[in-house]
Amino acid sequence: MSNLKQTHIVPRKTLDNIKPYSPGKPIWEVQNELGLTKVIKLASNENPLGASPKAIDAINSFVTEIHRYPDAGAKLASAAIASKLGIKAEEIIVTNGGDELISLVSEAFLEAGDEIVVPSPSFSEYEFGAHLMGARTVAVPLKEDYQYDVDALLAAVTERTKIMYICSPNNPTGTYIPAADLKRLIEALPEHVLLMVDSAYSYYASADDYTSGMEYVRAGYPVIVLQTFSKIFGLAGIRVGFGAAPEAVIRTILKVKEPFNVNALAQIAAAAAITDEEHVQASIEVNQLGREQLYEGLSELGLSYTTSMSNFVLVELGTEAKSIYDQLLAKGVIVRYGTIWGLPRHIRVTVGLPEENECFLESLKEILG
Ligand SMILES: *Cc1c(COP(=O)(O)O)cnc(C)c1O
Repeated sequence: MSNLKQTHIVPRKTLDNIKPYSPGKPIWEVQNELGLTKVIKLASNENPLGASPKAIDAINSFVTEIHRYPDAGAKLASAAIASKLGIKAEEIIVTNGGDELISLVSEAFLEAGDEIVVPSPSFSEYEFGAHLMGARTVAVPLKEDYQYDVDALLAAVTERTKIMYICSPNNPTGTYIPAADLKRLIEALPEHVLLMVDSAYSYYASADDYTSGMEYVRAGYPVIVLQTFSKIFGLAGIRVGFGAAPEAVIRTILKVKEPFNVNALAQIAAAAAITDEEHVQASIEVNQLGREQLYEGLSELGLSYTTSMSNFVLVELGTEAKSIYDQLLAKGVIVRYGTIWGLPRHIRVTVGLPEENECFLESLKEILG
């Protein structure tokens, strides 16, 4: 095929707005590029303990069945999730990662010219979903110390606003919206706005006044709660997440879903992982200790960071941040550089195992001299 031929095929205009997603560097890539053997990845908020053992067993026992199409309704997984959350299976949609839920919600609700309201800085997939549909993103900056600004969020709503996104704990800042503020926001939102509460990191949030927003789903508000199996359940590679929302909202989203969106192994893994209390508890503990370890080490180095309710910490490094990020990479420590969120003075580091956190802190110390 010649390139000349392709130039006559015109993609949709809105694709010009889509910036490619910039993922954390994979371990093998850094090994190959830099000729390193020991590389640690603290860049994608994965679970350092690995996957839920219950999920691994379920996958192993199901591998011989992969010649069959998966269940189009993901019924086993929906039922397990619903029973865990105390809601109806009809109030759940299982998706190919939480990312797919964001795309499906965008496809189901956004017309060209509609608006979404998002916090800034936050997760980039919300804007991606809007661009896909030719909708406009209205970004509302977080306040000082990356706190949510409920008044500014409400002020950004127009008659064209279809969806508002709240990411709590927020990626990449680790800050969260207190329950009272979420309540005030939900009660003040006009009826034509659907609220998505992205609680991908809810299990790590230890503040007393944190909420995942699930009580609003139970009470029938136009609220979708996003959850994922990629983070605390350790299943990022197999791609599975879900949304919880009132039945009418779920029914609408199901209209745009591909029949076999979630593969068979992901479904069986999700159904097993959601019941794996032991793995969840162990993961919460490792994370809490790891956060403290990072805070302590960063303080000793005289660096400022944002207190996190999540499994990552946003660290302020100042004007040398990019260079420090590169030097960490050269030492085989992969973190995320903040420029993708408009934070060129920051890096985001995922909480790892104690020895990984130590390695990060030691490397940082060497770099800073
Ligand atoms: C990781 C993440 C998700 C979902 O990721 P998937 O791997 O697609 O399930 C959603 N929201 C935020 C904020 C995340 O960080």
